[in-house]
Amino acid sequence: MSTNTQHDQDTPQEAVLASSNPEQASHKTDFGFSQVDASQKADMVADVFHSVAAKYDVMNDLMSMGVHRLWKRYTIDCSGVRAGQKVLDLAGGTGDLAAKFSRIVGNKGQVILADINHSMLNVGKEKLLNMGILGNLHYVQANAEALPFPDNHFDLITIAFGLRNVTDKSKALASMYRVLKPGGRLLVLEFSKPTTQALSKVYDAYSFYLLPQMGKLVANDSESYRYLAESIRMHPDQDTLEQMMKDVGFEQTSYTNLTGGIVALHRGFKF
Ligand code: SAM
Repeated sequence: MSTNTQHDQDTPQEAVLASSNPEQASHKTDFGFSQVDASQKADMVADVFHSVAAKYDVMNDLMSMGVHRLWKRYTIDCSGVRAGQKVLDLAGGTGDLAAKFSRIVGNKGQVILADINHSMLNVGKEKLLNMGILGNLHYVQANAEALPFPDNHFDLITIAFGLRNVTDKSKALASMYRVLKPGGRLLVLEFSKPTTQALSKVYDAYSFYLLPQMGKLVANDSESYRYLAESIRMHPDQDTLEQMMKDVGFEQTSYTNLTGGIVALHRGFKF
């Protein structure tokens, strides 16, 4: 595939980033609980992930008390992925899912770890190389809203804890639909809405008070972790996200609540 050879170099390429969308320049969007010009959100999100990249994995384990590993394991179990297939792990960050997929698809398969943020990609690349994972895994810096891949290309696309950071989520879902093969599957793993009031209250207390404190202590960065908590609350709930997937063409959509809806795994197919 031409995009691989073009982008799979030591330093992820800036050139594949989508140019700014004139439509986005004219309206406001959320950045956590703040309203910002839509054209500025990607840069503000980029600042967050440049800032957290080095401590991302350790903070993930701390913040979720390791449970993010179970959510990711469940995602892999639901992927149906087989040897020889092509997988896109979008907003793949430090590569937890990509690492697992690389082992499953084997030498005849291919995994693309794509992310808009070069700091996250670089941390991921170093980690996966240290794990001995190379050969069938390629790194591409790309915006989910404008994926630089051919139509009908991937058997599976995963986006884990990435979609809520994207400025135009419908545009990103449509882009994923375009590059998925007929018969292919999209899995969206994302924070969602807790299913009970009691859990919501505990979760609010945890994410708005403890999380920024942990961010300050471990990563010396409370603001980024405040954004993460706010962005979770602003993300569409389970039914809204499922409808957004249907609206861009996904079929047989469904979702599973994990940990009482703190996280949900959405599925959709392209036929
Ligand atoms: N998927 C990884 C995981 O589950 O550990 C990383 C998730 S991290 C919370 C979110 C990632 O989304 C970051 O690496 C960030 O750079 C990426 N991201 C944010 N906006 C994006 C966009 N528009 N296109 C692609 N990636 C994006």
